Amino acid sequence: MKTKIEELKLRTKGEIILPNDKNYDEARTIYNAMIDKHPAIIFKCKDVDDVIVAVNFGRENGLEVSIRSGGHNGAGLALVEGGLVIDLSIMKDIKVNPEKKTAKVQPGNTLRDLDKATHEHGLALPVGINGTTGVAGLTLGGGLGYLSRIGGLAIDNLLEAEVVLASGALVTANAISHPDLFWALRGGGGNFGVVTSFTFNLLPITNVYAGPMFWPMERAEEAMKFYDEVTKNASNDLYGFFAFLMVPPGDPFPKELHNQKVCGIVWCYTGSMEKAEEVFKPIREFGPPILDWVSEMPMPSLNGLFDDLYPEGLQWYWRAHYVNELTHECIQENIKHGANVPNFHSTTHFYPIDGKVHETAQEDTAWANRDARWVQVIVGVTPEPSEADKVTQWCKAYHEGVAPYAEGGAYVNFMMKERQDRVKAGYKGNYGRLVQIKTKYDPTNFFHINQNIKPAD
Ligand SMILES: Cc1cc2nc3c(=O)[nH]c(=O)nc-3n(C[C@H](O)[C@H](O)[C@H](O)COP(=O)(O)OP(=O)(O)OC[C@H]3O[C@@H](n4cnc5c(N)ncnc54)[C@H](O)[C@@H]3O)c2cc1C
Repeated sequence: MKTKIEELKLRTKGEIILPNDKNYDEARTIYNAMIDKHPAIIFKCKDVDDVIVAVNFGRENGLEVSIRSGGHNGAGLALVEGGLVIDLSIMKDIKVNPEKKTAKVQPGNTLRDLDKATHEHGLALPVGINGTTGVAGLTLGGGLGYLSRIGGLAIDNLLEAEVVLASGALVTANAISHPDLFWALRGGGGNFGVVTSFTFNLLPITNVYAGPMFWPMERAEEAMKFYDEVTKNASNDLYGFFAFLMVPPGDPFPKELHNQKVCGIVWCYTGSMEKAEEVFKPIREFGPPILDWVSEMPMPSLNGLFDDLYPEGLQWYWRAHYVNELTHECIQENIKHGANVPNFHSTTHFYPIDGKVHETAQEDTAWANRDARWVQVIVGVTPEPSEADKVTQWCKAYHEGVAPYAEGGAYVNFMMKERQDRVKAGYKGNYGRLVQIKTKYDPTNFFHINQNIKPAD
């Protein structure tokens, strides 16, 4: 193997990092500090040719292979114990075409990188909530966030992807070329190949009227019902995710709120800025909120609003549900666990997936939950390894408690290592077609360090 690795080093423009190298620990560090995997080889690819070399090397040498882009996956799927990591984090080119309103994006980019590049042209892609997340993994799982109600998921704006298959072949997937693969990539995660570029359609969005509003925990029941009503009847330009949280004990939060458990909504209004105050008048009249930081801001500021609160290196444990209805019992169970939130990093969010997301039919992309109203994510997060167990237990108990009110299955991007039947359930009636396409493009399940779709025997 030693000689083969020496040969490999000669063939790459990127970098081969091995366990004895001084930058090995840095290279195997990902966003979630709960993950501690030791790959045999980390191949930092510089370009598509490198990716092809990496895939062929992994396959020819019988190595287990993982794909790393932004390194944000909660379950640590960017890394593989004892195997080969195809690391795309330095492939960071972005080309925006302002006339066509499109962007061609390499997989090493974060949401922040993409926001920066598109915002200067008055454009934006519907992506996620934190600027540090990787565009690649987020998109392949679906990609939901502040612009979902007005612009759909990230995959609903994907025009084309270039993919290195398990065979080492480079193909273009779009509506005409490999349409089956293109269908599967839109929600099927990293199961089908290494995506080396994404071409997206962009929306003409620059500034939004957005930010958080909090109410005291005693008003949680009323607030959740109010939120349900407002968002049910709202036009697609109004988005808000509901949360239970503890107010962080520091600036810029008012001292009297520090460490208070509260409920809140983080809003994002993309309609006319002149109309914004009027739209929010009835919302502000429900209350008043104990904190109201909703104001006009550039879209990238909203996407980075919580980045300082969640630096790299925290311990994360995730769980998620699809939710369609906030019944009385569901609200009560959420309040019970929300009131026990263990610290100011842990939280639950209800991300809306209605509006424009519902305008695409379930069978048009692999992402199958076009009829649910929310993805609920529950995260137990702490900087202290000694508290990892405590936040994990809170997260699991919360998840179990609200399970009777959920739709079954979960969004693959918010899953840890969970039962295979939950992956299957999340794809609903699309799972069978995903298995067929997996069997065609990756019959040996070479790409299996992911929320796996197994090929047929
Ligand atoms: C703080 C935080 C906030 C988040 N917010 C949101 C949100 O608002 N909306 C949302 O939808 N998700 C969100 N997520 C979840 C996020 O979408 C997933 O964690 C996703 O996997 C991150 O992508 P990445 O490129 O950083 O992943 P990585 O950890 O690098 O990769 C994860 C997996 O994705 C696949 N993959 C990645 N790149 C490629 C590629 N180029 N080709 C093929 N497969 C690939 C592989 O299976 C890989 O194992 C958030 C995560 C975090 C930690």
